Amino acid sequence: MEKIWIRIKGATRILIRIIVEVPHRFVINIFDTLFGFLSWPEKKIRVGIFILQDPQTNPAVSPADLDAAIEYAKTSFKKNFNTRLLPHKNMQPFTEMLQKKAPYEALNTKGSIGALAEEFKITGSFFASNLSGLFYPITAFVVLDIDHASGCSLGPLTDYVTLDPVGAKNASTLAHEIAHACGLWHIRSKSNLLWRTFSRGDEVKWWQKNIFRGSRHVTYW
Ligand SMILES: [Zn+2]
Repeated sequence: MEKIWIRIKGATRILIRIIVEVPHRFVINIFDTLFGFLSWPEKKIRVGIFILQDPQTNPAVSPADLDAAIEYAKTSFKKNFNTRLLPHKNMQPFTEMLQKKAPYEALNTKGSIGALAEEFKITGSFFASNLSGLFYPITAFVVLDIDHASGCSLGPLTDYVTLDPVGAKNASTLAHEIAHACGLWHIRSKSNLLWRTFSRGDEVKWWQKNIFRGSRHVTYW
């Protein structure tokens, strides 16, 4: 019975995200959806990063390990999208150790389609109950391991992305996963931020600006 309830809650969370995303893209942010390539005016995106702690070992990542990724995302988003990256709650640091104990399933999570299945299980409930905020800010959870990936995002279907210790310490992965959360998908161009591997560049195409700036996560306030 409890399992069914967890699945219903997972499906409801995704459905609500779709219902919230559509009017943002096509009403509130319609100017950006059409003319985002102009990168005007300046917009804001708020991000909170929580490092999950493994009860068995010392944390594999400290908040300072994320500094390079935060700087990269700040520079890339300002240059490409005229969007300022801010901490989820103003005046607080971007990165905190999550004080609550994380279940094994959240510490060792899945990538790509497996991550979608996790949304309907204990992992999805845990991430949902530890978000830094609903709908607008993006929460990045640093976990111990992601199957076959160093970072993962379910795009606009959730308010969070995940990074493993390697992805957290890599400069461009945080920005790449946030870009997924804002609706962008992989493209076959090595110099692009949406190139699949760490060898990616930080360039974006004009239509990627429209999609990114039209996201509910990218706000005027
Ligand atoms: Zn990706």
